[in-house]
Amino acid sequence: MRINVHAGHNADGRTACGAIGFIRESTEARRVKDAVVSQLGQLGHTVYDCTVDDAAGVSDNLRQIVAKCNAHDVDLDVSIHFNSGAKDSAGNKVTTGTEAYVYSASSKAKAYAEKACAAVAGLGFRNRGVKYSTGLYVLRNTNSPAMLMECCFVDDRDDAQLYDCQAMAAAIVYGITGQKAAAKAGPDAGQEPTAPKEETPVGDRKQMYRVQVGAYSAESSARATMAKLKAAGFDAIVVNA
Ligand SMILES: [Zn+2]
Repeated sequence: MRINVHAGHNADGRTACGAIGFIRESTEARRVKDAVVSQLGQLGHTVYDCTVDDAAGVSDNLRQIVAKCNAHDVDLDVSIHFNSGAKDSAGNKVTTGTEAYVYSASSKAKAYAEKACAAVAGLGFRNRGVKYSTGLYVLRNTNSPAMLMECCFVDDRDDAQLYDCQAMAAAIVYGITGQKAAAKAGPDAGQEPTAPKEETPVGDRKQMYRVQVGAYSAESSARATMAKLKAAGFDAIVVNA
């Protein structure tokens, strides 16, 4: 097959990056995308990476992605995203799960999306199924059949715990092609998720206002400023932005 693959949003740390919870959408979508691209290549498919990391904003990001996609005549466009809004920070032992979007019930991408969801569900994620949306820019504007995969939820502890980028990619690849690439162990297999980053509100977290003092490329500089603030009586922390 000839397939376009891209990770949604700009890269983390830039404007218009994705959702943030236990894991970061932009970062994980890129890891899954890289693994999908490599596995599809390994299986002999022609793959184009249409990811855009540093667009000027949300609409510029989407416009550039679609321009890249439409530069190739392919059988399928695959957009990789992670979902948010589960609000399960405690972990309730069930995942919120996986879902995919296609433009309409008559999209040629529908069958691929259904199989991809089923394969991801095979990893233990709840299958939320294939949904239709005529409003999603990438689905509306790509020339080839397109599917948008919401792998799992960034703000559900159970999803984040179960998630492994290589396994997720393998499931998507299997859904699309019916083929399995040689297995690679995921570096994050079995890893305990860390607490959600505080700087991006997820779900119904109470509105908060933060005072930012500085942003530094060196952690030592950030820590030096934190020390000064603490010495002056302020409760300061260093966060990864
Ligand atoms: Zn997204």
